[in-house]
This record gives sequence, structure tokens and C-alpha cells, in this order.
Amino acid sequence: MKKRMPDSSLMNTYGRLPIQFTRGEGIWLYDDHDRKYLDAISSIAVCGLGHNHPAITYAIQQQAATLPFVANLYQNPLQEQLANVLTHISRTDQAFFCNSGSEANETAIKLARLHGRKLGIDQPSIIVMNGAFHGRTIATLTATGQREVQAGFEPLLHGFVRAPYNDLPAIQQIAKGNHNVCAVLLEPIQGESGIQIPDPNYLSELRAICDQHNWLLMFDEVQTGNGRTGEYFYAQKAGIEADVITTAKGLGNGFPIGVCLAKEQVGELFQPGSHGSTFGGNPMACATALAVIETIQNQKLCERADYLGDLILNALKEGLLGSYYISDIRGTGLMIGIELKEPCPELVALAKATGLLINITGDQRVIRLLPPLIMSNQDALKMADKLIKLIKIYMGDERSTPRRWTH
Ligand SMILES: *Cc1c(COP(=O)(O)O)cnc(C)c1O
Repeated sequence: MKKRMPDSSLMNTYGRLPIQFTRGEGIWLYDDHDRKYLDAISSIAVCGLGHNHPAITYAIQQQAATLPFVANLYQNPLQEQLANVLTHISRTDQAFFCNSGSEANETAIKLARLHGRKLGIDQPSIIVMNGAFHGRTIATLTATGQREVQAGFEPLLHGFVRAPYNDLPAIQQIAKGNHNVCAVLLEPIQGESGIQIPDPNYLSELRAICDQHNWLLMFDEVQTGNGRTGEYFYAQKAGIEADVITTAKGLGNGFPIGVCLAKEQVGELFQPGSHGSTFGGNPMACATALAVIETIQNQKLCERADYLGDLILNALKEGLLGSYYISDIRGTGLMIGIELKEPCPELVALAKATGLLINITGDQRVIRLLPPLIMSNQDALKMADKLIKLIKIYMGDERSTPRRWTH
């Protein structure tokens, strides 16, 4: 097959690495020279069950051969079934299905505005956090707290109030002065801005403030959801019930699907005609997501994420803490950040050369790991070891070059 010139007729939206994968199996991706790479970011928190998982492949094949698509004009038992499963897990009541994290957050934003109207607010506002990432549509990039995501796309939307993350007094201050607020939208752990974990009481206090003011607490669990942090949703881990939870990424293990989950009194604000999606909740997507959730539950992968997360985090701390170039090593389950004192974008290519796929975020100083939930203990430790060596070599601490994975 003739290789397409990179970016020739593609819009220039991604700085792509010069590498092409031809197949995937479990935690490994294979390039066109059949070299293997450990996908330590699960293709950005999407392939939590690894690549080409047999149960997921089977579900897709079966549904593709039966009824791949039917419009939302008709009954859809798979969608009902998936809604039951997800609302049960998240302690919500109703689900709206769409195809991405951005769309799930758009849905949450629309619900919040309807909630505001119901409270008699005619310019309803949503509190959003500095450093947040909620997507690339106009509403979700407005909700995003990163200037580089917004720059050039002004005018941004009205109806958002910004607050520093993990800062309760700032929220109290807004509550006193701004009577248009009707909701708070946040990632319970900020992913794109470098695995930022709030203080232990932050989310529960936020819940209390929301209750006090009749605000919706809306968790963007697009990245934290689907078992990644050691519970199916981080809300459970934090012991909190959110009014709205959105997720996408890991829900379809690569098949596009997003969902906005809500308590009944919130979800019922929509009526036929309020909202919709042509592809949302189609049988292929729902059959796939049902297989993903069943696999996560049957194989106890939430518990595995917790266990593996500790294993990796401890190994990294043991190998790196105390080094003058490390400023922090943190994580919850399989969301792990290694923060360096200086930007380290070159590490991506160095890691790739040894067969390890990582990602750098948070002002280019945080190595973000989002490993697959299906990893073995041995592979998890090997990954940590390889990364420690790489960082040390990069910082000039060690001479030897780490070798690439051998077959
Ligand atoms: C990736 C991400 C999004 C956007 O999801 P898309 O599927 O790319 O639209 C939104 N919120 C968070 C927290 C994310 O990590």
C-alpha cells in the first residue's frame, strides 16, 4: 500500500510522531517494521483494556453482523441496557448517549443552563476551573481553563465563571458575589494539565457548597472514568454523588461513544426536541461499551488499576524521588504524573526509541502515564524501571542506554 504523505491533505491539528502502527495486541502496538511499543498512555486513556481485546472485538463483530445502526427514532434495547448499567454504577438515574467527551460535556452544559432557568436565573453561569480541559467545541473550549485551547476562537461564550482548582475559598467568594451561578463543572482529577489531584476534602466540601446553593455538581470523568482510578468512576472513590457525570474515552475501548449521566431531577429537564445526536447510542457503540463494562467488572479491573497504580507509583518514587530534577510524583490508580523541574518534551522521542509510548503535558513538565488496566505486574514494573532509566539518562545521571523491548 502506498503510504500517504504525512499531513499532506490533513488539516494541521496534530503534531504527529513519525511512526505508523499496523497492529495492536494487549498492551503492545506494532509498527510497520514490526517493532513493538508498550502503550503506556492507552492511546490517551481510550484503550484501557489494551488493543484488540478479544471480548471487545467479538462484541463488535457480532453486532456488525446483526444490526450495526438504527436511528434514535426507534426503540433501542442495547441503549436501554447500557443506560441501566451506567446509571446503576454511577448512582445516577438517566443517560444521554453521544459520541465523544466534548459532546457529553455539551450535554452537561445544556442541562446546567436548563437547571439555572428552572431556578429563575436568566443568565445562568457555570463555575469552571483554571487548568481544566473539557473539549474542543466552542462551549467546551470556553469551559476549558487553558488559554492556548481558546486563543483565536473568540468570541467565547457567556455564562462561565473561572476559579482556581482546589481552592474552596475562591468558590465561597463566587457564591457570595455571583447570583447567576447554577452549577460547577470540573474534572475530579485534572488530566490534560498534568494529573492534578485535589486535597482529600475538596470534592466533598464542593458537594456541600453545591447543595447549599442549589448548584449542580458536574464531574467530567471523560479521562478518570471507566476504571482508571481504581473505581469505575472517581466520584465513587471520593465517596461523592455528583448530579451529572460525563464520560467517553475508555467507555468504548476505541469505539467512539460518550455519555452524560444525570440524576432524575436534572435529566428530566430535557424533553423530546431539547437535545439529540444522530449517532449517539447506536447499537454498535452500545454493544461495545456493554462488553467493555462487563470485562472491567468480570476481571475486577478497577481493583487491578488500584493495585497496579500503587505498584508503579512506589517503584517510580523509589527510583526517582530525591533526584534534584524531580519536583513531584503523584497518582491515583492508573493516572500517574511525574513532574520534572524543567520542560522535557524530548523524552517522548527518547522513550519511543526504546519502545515505550508516553506523553508529556502540564506545561511540558509532567510525564503522564495512563497504562492499560490489563497489564501484568511484571510488565508494570518493567515499564517503571525503563522509565526511571530513561529519565536518569535524559537528566545526565546515567550513561548506559536503555534497550528496546525484545520479542
Ligand atoms: C479528552 C477529554 C475531553 C474531550 O473528549 P473528546 O472525546 O476528545 O471530545 C473532555 N474532558 C476530559 C477530561 C478529557 O480528558
